Amino acid sequence: MSKVGCRLTCPSFSPCGRRCRMRGETLWIRCFINAAYRAALILSLLSGARIEDGPSLSCPFTTLERLLFMDFELKFTPELEGFRKKVQDWLKANIPDGMENPADPVDLTLEGYNKQRALGRKMAELGWLYPTYPKEYGGGGLSDDEAIIIETELDRYDQLLPPYYDSGGKLAAATIMVWGTDEQKRAFLPPILTGKVRSWQLLTEPDAGSDLANVKTTAIRDGDHYVVNGQKIFVGSAHGAEWSWMIANTSPNGKRHENLSWFVLPMDLPGVTWTHMDLIFAGNESGALSGYKNTVYLENVRIPAFNLVGGENNGWKVAGTHLELEHGLMQGSLNGDRTLQKVFKVCRDLKREGRHLLEHDDVREELADLYIDSELTRLLHLRNYWMRSAKKPMTYEGPQAYLHMKRAALRTSKSLHKILGPYALTLDKERGLEDGHIEVQQRGGIVAQHPGGTVEIQKVIIARRLGIGRAVKEQAGVLR
Ligand SMILES: Cc1cc2nc3c(=O)[nH]c(=O)nc-3n(C[C@H](O)[C@H](O)[C@H](O)COP(=O)(O)OP(=O)(O)OC[C@H]3O[C@@H](n4cnc5c(N)ncnc54)[C@H](O)[C@@H]3O)c2cc1C
Repeated sequence: MSKVGCRLTCPSFSPCGRRCRMRGETLWIRCFINAAYRAALILSLLSGARIEDGPSLSCPFTTLERLLFMDFELKFTPELEGFRKKVQDWLKANIPDGMENPADPVDLTLEGYNKQRALGRKMAELGWLYPTYPKEYGGGGLSDDEAIIIETELDRYDQLLPPYYDSGGKLAAATIMVWGTDEQKRAFLPPILTGKVRSWQLLTEPDAGSDLANVKTTAIRDGDHYVVNGQKIFVGSAHGAEWSWMIANTSPNGKRHENLSWFVLPMDLPGVTWTHMDLIFAGNESGALSGYKNTVYLENVRIPAFNLVGGENNGWKVAGTHLELEHGLMQGSLNGDRTLQKVFKVCRDLKREGRHLLEHDDVREELADLYIDSELTRLLHLRNYWMRSAKKPMTYEGPQAYLHMKRAALRTSKSLHKILGPYALTLDKERGLEDGHIEVQQRGGIVAQHPGGTVEIQKVIIARRLGIGRAVKEQAGVLR
């Protein structure tokens, strides 16, 4: 590891006493603060205070051991490490060649996409595609610990869980679990959770983005069906989808928030068409490579009334479940930041004024900040993951992690531009860096400000959850 890398990862607990040139601060000071912190924790423990288990879901260490080592990372039991080995062996034998993700999601070919889907279906046979969902609905019935292990091991192959863009599995399935009838769960969950169908989310419209309650697409009851007319934008990904799920207005003259309903929509119904949107970047949806975004047109589409989930005009509450998840409570981001690893590599290789970039003080300063940002993102998501699996009540935590992630993406774009100058902006075969990943980050950092609720909307949610400017604190959406 290079000297700078060493300083960046220095835990600052070891009493080396060297002066940190990057920060101009003596590590002894941090050692002292740390020792004082540990002493205070031990004293409070001796006086009977309880220490929470923290994010280690099945931490094999005692509280005292954790106090002494100050170790906040996940630790797994020998049984779980055995499970990890099983996952590693299986992935090694079953991940096909040519599954590397292109830098720009629009370059994901149909062949590459089909490989992702096939891998997903194979994983589902073992219960590893949606590991924590009940077996009776096609999930794995596995623990959160096992799900984290599968996710972490897939990440080593640059793949997410599921290994393709599927907002139906990530968000809609959780919503159906909360709001669906038994019959609906049996009908809708197995195809999604076993990878037979994947789905897109149809929420945003030209006049309903941040103000999602302003949805104008109508769904009017006609016998055993609802007839849908309208237009949705920024939808899904490339290569189509078998299903979608959407909110539509079922009571055009009704009261705001009490006029929407939530539907499962088969995409092969007559009257559903879509075209690609031309964007500077389609968003990689936390690495799931969405490819193109689309405009979806709905013209006299007849959806069976059975596909209405959660009751007519109750859709705003139903949407609260998946919006809660989308706002910073989805898994993913538990692992390190891949782009940052590439940036470190570039800074080790590339020279400026005869010296490697890593040897320049200004570059080190930027890299230190990028590293801190990326670790904060990871730890906030880890905390949220633990809170969810421990069924702790949540308020502002999801939007807090999401807001930090979005801001960090933009700061990263700025830093990369400072460090690499025009190299960061080109896809040129000779001068472009890391097969286009750096250039794509420049576009992606800006685009990341928007999906799943913009930066401003995350702040609005945090304020409402904290009770700022409102007499009554807003409650989080209902989760399972
Ligand atoms: C890459 C990407 C992927 C997406 N994927 C999907 C998808 O799969 N399905 C789907 O349905 N939608 C999707 N979206 C749409 C996304 O949810 C919307 O773009 C987003 O909600 C913002 O809506 P808008 O674009 O209409 O912007 P607007 O709502 O028009 O906002 C414009 C600006 O005004 C600000 N603003 C608005 N209201 C307020 C307020 N009250 N206070 C302060 N500032 C405010 C916003 O922060 C923003 O900066 C995606 C978008 C992107 C970019």
